[in-house]
Amino acid sequence: MAEVIKINDNTWRIEDTGVRFYLLCGKERAALIDTGMNTPDARQIAEGLTSLLLILINTHADPDHISGNASFDSFYMSPNEEGNLRNHTGEGEIIPIKEGDVIELGERPLRIIDIPGHTRGSIAILDEKQRVLISGDSVQDGKIFMFGPERNLEVYIESMKHLEEYTNEFEDIYPMHGTIPVQKELIRKLIEGAEDIIAGRAEGKTVEVFGNEVCLYNFSFAGFLCKLEK
Ligand SMILES: [Zn+2]
Repeated sequence: MAEVIKINDNTWRIEDTGVRFYLLCGKERAALIDTGMNTPDARQIAEGLTSLLLILINTHADPDHISGNASFDSFYMSPNEEGNLRNHTGEGEIIPIKEGDVIELGERPLRIIDIPGHTRGSIAILDEKQRVLISGDSVQDGKIFMFGPERNLEVYIESMKHLEEYTNEFEDIYPMHGTIPVQKELIRKLIEGAEDIIAGRAEGKTVEVFGNEVCLYNFSFAGFLCKLEK
């Protein structure tokens, strides 16, 4: 059962068994950011909280972020998520968004930042007025999935360095998993952890995730689940 928690007068987080998504309201429109893992009624939940015209923006198309997408004909998403979305039988039309695009909710502009790596089309969303960054799965203190097709740790590091260019534009980070909020210093730690993995300086252990044997690199600040090096 999804739990709806009010953050402030125009922002909610919806907790959905290990994953969360957000509802952001502007003066004219409201935006759902993702639709969770077990929440086909995400749209109904949002419409119970606001009467504004509702749009949907997805941080990426992994299955734990799109469970309620089917009730939208179209949604904002990086076009680089097309393959990921269709692999999860995701229907609906992608309205493509990219770095620098601004989605205006009415005195609440949301700026798109491309951060590929976790998936090819992962994005972060900068809520400029509230000085919050919504980071998807890429910045969080849980376990970041980096195994399987389309995921790339080198690209991820470049994206995190890109994200650091924006750190004077937000105070808090709202991730989709783990602790909320997390602090922006986490970005630097994630870069260093990922660099340690690539350089062979980090020690991993084999764990099973959804029937896959993968390598878990556990740091004090977060974990990375990577392809097992045989
Ligand atoms: Zn996720």
